[in-house]
Amino acid sequence: MSKSSVSTNIVAVRQRLEQALVDAGRPHDDAHLLAVSKTKPERDLRDAFEAGQRAFGENYLQEALDKQHALSDLAIEWHFIGAVQSNKARAVAEAFQWCHTVDRLKIARRLNDHRPDHLPPLNICLQVNISGEASKSGAAPDDVHAIAETLITLPRLSFRGLMALPAPSETLIEQRKPFSRLRELFESLKARHPNQPLDTLSMGMSGDLEAAIAEGATLVRVGSAIFGAR
Ligand SMILES: *Cc1c(COP(=O)(O)O)cnc(C)c1O
Repeated sequence: MSKSSVSTNIVAVRQRLEQALVDAGRPHDDAHLLAVSKTKPERDLRDAFEAGQRAFGENYLQEALDKQHALSDLAIEWHFIGAVQSNKARAVAEAFQWCHTVDRLKIARRLNDHRPDHLPPLNICLQVNISGEASKSGAAPDDVHAIAETLITLPRLSFRGLMALPAPSETLIEQRKPFSRLRELFESLKARHPNQPLDTLSMGMSGDLEAAIAEGATLVRVGSAIFGAR
């Protein structure tokens, strides 16, 4: 994608985000944009960085590590948003500031154990299978509170909130339903743990960011609307 396209797209997505916040009656800086750059070349990330973007999300570990190496001159905040297999947990713990896709305690413990002492705690979101599809990863909504009880005891992790990747749907009303359920879970979690830094509701992508913002998303993960189709 050409440099001007990436920067034009970033401006357009930022405008969508701000308009959605206005429509929801929320402050204009109430939600952050994560640029999802999986499968896209380093050049595109550089262009987005030049357009002011700092937080990038990657799904595939080796691809992400290669990009981190090539872009080590840029002060990028790296978010891991792909499936975390046990044997990848160490590298995720070492190389990222955030992991949005923690869906079971086994993975959380491994991330905690491998987070290097010289780094601040790894920011994590608990991924929830909010649409209830058997094939989708994520913790069952009914298990969220029990998992959270242990997550908050892991000293090398900072439990920041919940993440979901609901099945796509066409209308705004349908899109809002799973986001609304995730928001309710998030509110009950915050009520139970008022002293935890639970400030992140990671939901909404290129096709449904307006619905997510209407339901309280604090971070939207946007790929194709910035970098083009994959
Ligand atoms: C690819 C991906 C996105 C971005 O999706 P777009 O539809 O391209 O905006 C967001 N979140 C996750 C977890 C992804 O894998």
